[in-house]
Amino acid sequence: MAKKKKFRVTYLRYAFQIAIIAILVYLALGYGERTFEAYCPFGGVEALYGLFTTKNYTCALGEANMAMFLGLIALVVLSKKSFCGWICPIGAVSETANRLGFRMRGKKHWLPPKVDKALRLLRYPVMIIILYYTYKIGDLIFRGYDPFYLIFSGFGDYALGIWSILLMLFLLAISFIISMPFCRYFCPLGAFQDLLSWMGISRIYRNKETCIDCDLCDKACPQLIEVSQKDKVKHIDCTNCLECVEVCPVKNCLEMRMF
Ligand code: SF4
Ligand code: SF4
Ligand code: SF4
Repeated sequence: MAKKKKFRVTYLRYAFQIAIIAILVYLALGYGERTFEAYCPFGGVEALYGLFTTKNYTCALGEANMAMFLGLIALVVLSKKSFCGWICPIGAVSETANRLGFRMRGKKHWLPPKVDKALRLLRYPVMIIILYYTYKIGDLIFRGYDPFYLIFSGFGDYALGIWSILLMLFLLAISFIISMPFCRYFCPLGAFQDLLSWMGISRIYRNKETCIDCDLCDKACPQLIEVSQKDKVKHIDCTNCLECVEVCPVKNCLEMRMF
């Protein structure tokens, strides 16, 4: 049965992502009481580690990071990697660039599946190394390589500048041919969420009785998940972005449910 035209929930998602980027740019330009860094949940992972080991907050971290971190844990348990799909600016930028690449090239991902699978494991050693050296040195060693920090700090001087723009363009260019490269291969916050994402209570369910195997859901998924092959999407990279649900032409064939 054909679906009626309806309001797309994903428009809300795009609006949300744009609003978050606007707020971060506002903070990065020096307005607001705290710097944008105070709102990074991975700062909370590092802060927690520092609190346990040295009883102090590491470097520029503080209570706001811890609050973000605890909120992130609740969100992952409730709705998998929704933070990545709905809030994170790096995810939003990479996804948009890859969608554009797909429209122009007809292909989302340039790397062969085996290489991609092996590279995805890289994010775990990256997370472990960062946490270890944060503890050893007592400084945020990842800062200098973190696109979130580099872009929104203007490479450390808290003024968005030419280097921020160049890094953004580089990320866009790579994301054009590889689906979400930083997220897939390097992001320590993504790796941390993997620890809990598999148990996320809300997930996408497919009704295989009504599915017409059109594969539109696979093409729409920014995380390259083969939705059309699953009864329920348990994949740790699912962000509950609802792109697959929105494109499915069969009413209620794909839906997000709890349990
Ligand atoms: S994997 Fe990391 S960079 Fe990518 S969207 Fe998630 S938190 Fe952001
Ligand atoms: S499976 Fe669906 S909800 Fe999950 S990331 Fe892919 S498109 Fe988004
Ligand atoms: S888009 Fe819907 S009908 Fe098409 S393959 Fe996916 S679940 Fe099946």
